[in-house]
Amino acid sequence: MSVMSDPSADSPKPEMESKHDQLRCRTCGAELPADTPGPFCSPRCRMADLGKWFSGDYSISRNIEERDLDED
Ligand SMILES: [Zn+2]
Repeated sequence: MSVMSDPSADSPKPEMESKHDQLRCRTCGAELPADTPGPFCSPRCRMADLGKWFSGDYSISRNIEERDLDED
Protein backbone atom coordinates (compact mmCIF):
# COMPACT_ATOMS: atom_id res chain seq x y z
CA MET A 1 0.00 0.00 0.00
CA SER A 2 1.72 3.10 -1.23
CA VAL A 3 0.43 6.48 -0.17
CA MET A 4 1.52 9.39 -2.30
CA SER A 5 1.58 12.82 -0.80
CA ASP A 6 -0.90 15.23 -2.25
CA PRO A 7 1.07 17.80 -4.27
CA SER A 8 -1.68 20.33 -3.74
CA ALA A 9 -0.82 20.33 -0.04
CA ASP A 10 2.34 22.24 -0.80
CA SER A 11 0.54 25.03 -2.57
CA PRO A 12 0.27 28.12 -0.39
CA LYS A 13 -3.20 28.93 0.76
CA PRO A 14 -4.61 32.33 -0.15
CA GLU A 15 -4.59 34.71 2.74
CA MET A 16 -8.04 34.65 4.22
CA GLU A 17 -9.38 36.21 7.33
CA SER A 18 -9.56 32.99 9.28
CA LYS A 19 -7.94 34.03 12.52
CA HIS A 20 -10.66 32.23 14.37
CA ASP A 21 -9.27 28.97 13.09
CA GLN A 22 -5.82 29.69 14.47
CA LEU A 23 -5.75 28.88 18.13
CA ARG A 24 -3.04 30.27 20.31
CA CYS A 25 -1.83 29.17 23.69
CA ARG A 26 -3.45 31.33 26.33
CA THR A 27 -0.28 31.34 28.36
CA CYS A 28 2.63 31.80 25.96
CA GLY A 29 0.77 32.70 22.78
CA ALA A 30 2.28 29.89 20.74
CA GLU A 31 0.29 28.74 17.77
CA LEU A 32 -1.55 25.54 18.56
CA PRO A 33 -1.75 22.62 16.15
CA ALA A 34 -5.24 21.78 14.98
CA ASP A 35 -5.23 18.58 17.00
CA THR A 36 -4.36 20.27 20.27
CA PRO A 37 -7.11 19.56 22.78
CA GLY A 38 -7.45 22.79 24.65
CA PRO A 39 -6.33 26.39 24.72
CA PHE A 40 -2.81 25.53 25.86
CA CYS A 41 0.22 24.23 24.00
CA SER A 42 1.39 22.08 26.87
CA PRO A 43 0.35 20.90 30.34
CA ARG A 44 2.95 23.28 31.72
CA CYS A 45 1.22 26.28 30.20
CA ARG A 46 -2.09 24.96 31.40
CA MET A 47 -0.81 24.80 34.95
CA ALA A 48 0.70 28.25 34.60
CA ASP A 49 -2.69 29.57 33.63
CA LEU A 50 -4.26 27.89 36.62
CA GLY A 51 -1.62 29.59 38.73
CA LYS A 52 -2.85 32.93 37.46
CA TRP A 53 -6.30 32.06 38.62
CA PHE A 54 -5.10 31.09 42.07
CA SER A 55 -2.90 34.17 42.38
CA GLY A 56 -5.87 36.36 41.62
CA ASP A 57 -4.80 37.77 38.27
CA TYR A 58 -8.11 36.83 36.78
CA SER A 59 -10.21 37.79 39.74
CA ILE A 60 -13.01 40.06 38.75
CA SER A 61 -13.36 43.08 40.93
CA ARG A 62 -16.98 43.76 41.59
CA ASN A 63 -18.68 46.06 43.95
CA ILE A 64 -20.47 44.36 46.80
CA GLU A 65 -23.62 46.07 47.73
CA GLU A 66 -23.37 46.05 51.48
CA ARG A 67 -26.84 47.40 51.88
CA ASP A 68 -28.07 44.06 50.64
CA LEU A 69 -26.33 42.41 53.57
CA ASP A 70 -27.28 45.06 56.08
CA GLU A 71 -30.95 44.84 55.46
CA ASP A 72 -32.74 46.02 58.55
ZN1 LIG B 1 2.07 27.68 25.78
